[in-house]
Amino acid sequence: MSKEKGKQFAGKKIVVLGLAKSGVAVAKLMKQFGATVTVNDKKPREEAAGVEELERLGIPVICGYHPDDLLDESVDLVIKNPGIPYTVAPVRAALALKIPVITEVEIAYLLSDAPIIGITGSNGKTTTTTLVGEILREATLSPVVAGNIGTVLSEQAVTVTSDQILVAELSSFQLKGTRDFRPQIACILNVYDAHLDYHKTKEDYIHSKFNLLVNQREEDIAVLNYDNEGTCSAAAYTKAAILWFSVKEEIAQGSFVKDGFVVFKKPAAGPLQDKLADSPEVERIIRVEEIALPGGHNLENVLAAVSIARAAGASAQAIAHVLRSFAGVEHRIEFVAEINGVKYYNDSKATNPAAAIPALRAFKEPIVLIAGGLDRGIDFKELVPLLKEHASGLVVYGQTAEILAKRGTEAGIKIIKRVDNVRDAVASAHLIAHPGDVVLLSPACASWDMYKSFEERGSIFKESVHKLKTSR
Ligand code: ADP
Repeated sequence: MSKEKGKQFAGKKIVVLGLAKSGVAVAKLMKQFGATVTVNDKKPREEAAGVEELERLGIPVICGYHPDDLLDESVDLVIKNPGIPYTVAPVRAALALKIPVITEVEIAYLLSDAPIIGITGSNGKTTTTTLVGEILREATLSPVVAGNIGTVLSEQAVTVTSDQILVAELSSFQLKGTRDFRPQIACILNVYDAHLDYHKTKEDYIHSKFNLLVNQREEDIAVLNYDNEGTCSAAAYTKAAILWFSVKEEIAQGSFVKDGFVVFKKPAAGPLQDKLADSPEVERIIRVEEIALPGGHNLENVLAAVSIARAAGASAQAIAHVLRSFAGVEHRIEFVAEINGVKYYNDSKATNPAAAIPALRAFKEPIVLIAGGLDRGIDFKELVPLLKEHASGLVVYGQTAEILAKRGTEAGIKIIKRVDNVRDAVASAHLIAHPGDVVLLSPACASWDMYKSFEERGSIFKESVHKLKTSR
């Protein structure tokens, strides 16, 4: 069926900006549907992956620069890699010519026969998306998990059938390039200050997230965080029925915590009436202490997943079953090893202070924190009270080493070390930590000043920790 939907691209002239995995995939799809495609990437040819494959398919690829004549009135559509800012010349030129500039997420929506669950937020996207995928699998609802999480959404969108569910993790960069995108179930986990280097203003960042909701209709569902100011204001942007989640309060409809249980309260009216007709008004899903995922922040992700999964038709039993065993995703407060009574945790995915804060809160033990990375101009002041309360030592590296060391001093931390990289940070933390301490890599910064990705940074951390074990 989505082949049928693909016909809308036949004969269209499309420019794909940015190769990467999603650019290559979407260029191939558009060619397959009969569009005339040109791909352009600023990276030199040797550094760009997928060039030969595309050229073999007859798709011209221009590498190393953006040609001045890349765009004219004859171009119907620009599909932009989410990471490319709107300030680069070809994007500005396209916008000036009133050519739609979209991301491949929009293409995925236009092609998919399956209903879409879209999950976004500043933090917790991957954990919640993975968890929802696991629950829907347990409930035999045939989920296909894709998007910002690894597999390209549009690539999955062409193969999913109407009896499956596309579970999409979506970033604000991806959502900024949507127009008609409409998920049947949308979730905004939280909105904190983030990516100001790209979005320039907080408003632009927030509105990109709200793009997830703007096309929803009365028969759709929006799952929103009752405890987060940013997501509360999102309610005004959707016609969908709202399921709230809250770790703090009992709410009218959605999921919350009561008497030590995660509870789901179904709405009194609205689109879920048929689906939830046989379930009680209030359901106890699971005892909080039975949940395998550690940390208070993950309780928020669990509550969000409960509302999403109930709205999608998963039973309370299927949800509870998965929550008892799902221990999280790699690089997110991931336990690595215990050496000489010191526990090492990898939270490399904490790429901003808001993500490092819950990690610092997740432990009762004194923490030797390893932090640092790309300088985005953040002042890290919000970390000071957390450092004061939880950190016994601080090891800093990367572009933000100085400012983080300064915050450590303000927090009264006695032992602060500056090192060159994560490998040296592990060696240094090993010397500082006492039995009973936790050594935590939760950098509060992106990795790109020194590492290809947070995954590479986390893997180096784990490798270095395991080496400590063997070198004892
Ligand atoms: P994302 O995909 O949005 O980056 P992840 O699920 O990968 O989110 O989690 C990244 C980090 O963000 C985690 O290591 C944790 O420190 C923090 N985090 C996760 N969930 C939340 C939440 N609900 N609220 C605040 N911080 C969170």
